[in-house]
Amino acid sequence: MWYHKHVTEEELRRLLRNGEVLLAGNLRLKIYGTLRCYSGKRMKRENRVFFKHEGEARLLGFRPCKNCWRKNSSLKSV
Ligand SMILES: [Zn+2]
Repeated sequence: MWYHKHVTEEELRRLLRNGEVLLAGNLRLKIYGTLRCYSGKRMKRENRVFFKHEGEARLLGFRPCKNCWRKNSSLKSV
């Protein structure tokens, strides 16, 4: 898991390019979703974390964002 506040924009771009970051989460609400998630884009940088995959997010006690999972049901099987 990466904290947005701990990575520079340059590092983040590299992580995205390498496929190291596929999901974003809200540290305060303990919810994770896709990087395109509307609610994810609205949250504060200090609350945002990034995950490589769902297993990592689940392990840390995060719940999936309902919006994302309704729109993209294929994510359920990841
Ligand atoms: Zn979402």
